[in-house]
Amino acid sequence: MVRKVEIFDTTLRDGEQTPGVALNVYEKLEIARQLAKLKVDVIEAGFPIASNGDFNAVKTIAENVKGPVIAGLARANFKDIDRAAEALKNAESPRIHTFIASSPIHMQYKLKMSPEQVLEAAVEAVKRAKSYFEDVEFSAEDATRSDVEFLCKLFSQTIKAGATVINIPDTVGYTTPEEFANLIRTLRERVPEMDRVKISVHCHNDLGMAVANSLAAVVNGATQVECTINGLGERAGNAALEELVMALVTRKDIYKVDLNIDTRQIYRTSKVVSTLTGIHVQPNKAIVGANAFAHASGIHQHGVLSEKSTYEIMTPESIGLTSNRIVLGKLSGRHAFVQRLKELGYELSEEETNRAFERFKDLADKKKEITDSDIEAIVEEQVTKIPQLIELEYFQTSSGNQAIATSTVRVKIQGNTVEEAATGNGPVDATYKALERACNINCKLVDYSIKSVSAGKDAIGEVVVRIEKDGKIFTGRGLSTDIIEASARAYTDALNKTLYNSNGNKPAETNEEE
Ligand SMILES: [Zn+2]
Repeated sequence: MVRKVEIFDTTLRDGEQTPGVALNVYEKLEIARQLAKLKVDVIEAGFPIASNGDFNAVKTIAENVKGPVIAGLARANFKDIDRAAEALKNAESPRIHTFIASSPIHMQYKLKMSPEQVLEAAVEAVKRAKSYFEDVEFSAEDATRSDVEFLCKLFSQTIKAGATVINIPDTVGYTTPEEFANLIRTLRERVPEMDRVKISVHCHNDLGMAVANSLAAVVNGATQVECTINGLGERAGNAALEELVMALVTRKDIYKVDLNIDTRQIYRTSKVVSTLTGIHVQPNKAIVGANAFAHASGIHQHGVLSEKSTYEIMTPESIGLTSNRIVLGKLSGRHAFVQRLKELGYELSEEETNRAFERFKDLADKKKEITDSDIEAIVEEQVTKIPQLIELEYFQTSSGNQAIATSTVRVKIQGNTVEEAATGNGPVDATYKALERACNINCKLVDYSIKSVSAGKDAIGEVVVRIEKDGKIFTGRGLSTDIIEASARAYTDALNKTLYNSNGNKPAETNEEE
């Protein structure tokens, strides 16, 4: 019989702790919906006690996303667990994921608790979580640097208290495949109760071994793997879902396990996550990088053309990567647009469709051929839109190597029209200054990036900005065939978010995580 391995996605919790990432509730919901299409078994939606923003995101996802188990993180105390239970109460399949550190260094310096106190807190936490839901996951933070004897005691007792999943995290990315394999084997030998529950691993990538360590654990009996899309996460990130899944699928001959994942949704999911987080995927990234399936060298190309399997161990189609054919243009009507949205797997509401179609027409006026990538970019821009308190009505810039760049902008802020002008170091800088003045918002630009969504001279430029206001980070995106306009839209989007402030943004408490 083939064993089943479950995929636990923590993009919205651990991945959201990637430095510089700040997602609002609409963006988190959009990612969760895509994860459900990918058919992950568990979505860890957030850390409800961390902030009101996090609580709302978990609650919204629990209420709207069906299919996967929805998990919420909680430290091993009643306050955290009660808050997580409240956020999860309307989920179809809720799970509380509670954790406490078990390594000597964490117990002594971070928790300032004795091993006995940690054991008691863990057991009490699991019992409390169990009083709300049947499904309870327990994690021993920093397990790979913990005393094995103590881990055995901790796992045995938390299982007796009701834990249904035992997670063994390599919190600091310190272990190696051989060592981790040995740890999983030893725990299973010494704690017979572990065979009654799911055995989970959670690996970080500090030494670039997160996926290798996770696979070593699967070989030795792990039945759940925690991972993130594009390998996002704290520091060097977590095990990358796409790499892990495609390794298990492509080398099923070795791993001999089954997954529920629909691999054809991998590429789309990676795109949605990189777009909404603003963290681009490096071109040579395994599976989802732009070059992962491009055979640039002449020799390879010849081989691939005559027989695909000469250089291709996976097909692009298996991850849902289709050739980026030209689909629509200026003359395409609403019907053709809606049809293409359906073919691409989008299910939009009437209002979302209208907004996306408006933008499509707008772009088709400036760009001859609209590709699937363009449509995806438009949809992501429109679907996750929060209410527009600031609207960019008009802008004009002038610049040159002998001139001082100037910009005039007109915005509508909550109904009032304001016009302002500014000079700056280049047209983007001038526009940003004019926008800040018009909106009367003081903030700092911390990051600006631009890339093209598709190929060609008239390609759409996508600008992502991160601004800081009152110690919080806000991300804005803008699309246009004109890079100054894309820049202005991105900045307006970010400024709008500072007003709307639906964001829970990085409270100090979330630093503590497993
Ligand atoms: Zn982690």
